Amino acid sequence: MTTEPLVQVRDLAKHFVLEGQRIDVLRGVDVDIVAGERVSIIGPSGSGKSTFLHVVGTLDRPSSGSVQIQGRELSKMSSRALASFRNETIGFVFQFHHLLPEFSALENVGMPAKIRRVSPAEVDSRALAMLDRVGLRHRLHHRPGELSGGEQQRVSIARALVMEPALLLADEPTGNLDERSAEGIHELLDQMNKELGLTVVLVTHRSELAQRMPRQLRMEAGRLVEAKEAEASLS
Ligand code: ADP
Ligand code: MG
Repeated sequence: MTTEPLVQVRDLAKHFVLEGQRIDVLRGVDVDIVAGERVSIIGPSGSGKSTFLHVVGTLDRPSSGSVQIQGRELSKMSSRALASFRNETIGFVFQFHHLLPEFSALENVGMPAKIRRVSPAEVDSRALAMLDRVGLRHRLHHRPGELSGGEQQRVSIARALVMEPALLLADEPTGNLDERSAEGIHELLDQMNKELGLTVVLVTHRSELAQRMPRQLRMEAGRLVEAKEAEASLS
């Protein structure tokens, strides 16, 4: 039996032009990620980790090469089709949570469902179920400013997962948290991977966090290379 990869990237290149100068960031990335995998990506600051996540996450377009998710070639999709594909298939978590300050945790988490015109009752029930999963049943009506950093990041994870995406892309999600809160977030991601079969791609500059993942990739000279897989079992 062959498993079609959830994400298939071939010879992906991405450059930016800034003040007339071309910066080649991704220079031929090849990678397959299968459903249910947990993958970390490490690499120095400026090496292109975020750029890679943005392109795979359909927030940015490749300069050349191919990105397929669930067998669909992203470059062949219109911006409009991409937006709805993203909403249904991909969840994002960033270093800074980007929660809306004037809205409660419940409203923030429900937002992607609301945008998809899910009925109001279902928006609430989905948001509630997801906040329950991330351990925030008791914080439904708090606004972001009334929550700790770790709790805010849990809310943003719940928001990322409310449409039950197949793929979660996390860009330094614990970069802004103390060690204990960070640990809780990593445990939560592991738990969501197990319970929901969620595929997790995590960018982090902290190698001890990267090594928790069964598979580790490193961004090197614009390409992704497999880092040592054995280290995961030592920690
Ligand atoms: P990382 O996440 O590994 O720190 P990034 O992917 O954010 O790296 O950035 C890689 C390189 O691409 C950096 O040199 C950055 O300045 C450049 N870059 C990223 N986004 C843009 C952009 N929108 N316009 C111009 N340059 C960019
Ligand atoms: Mg980055």
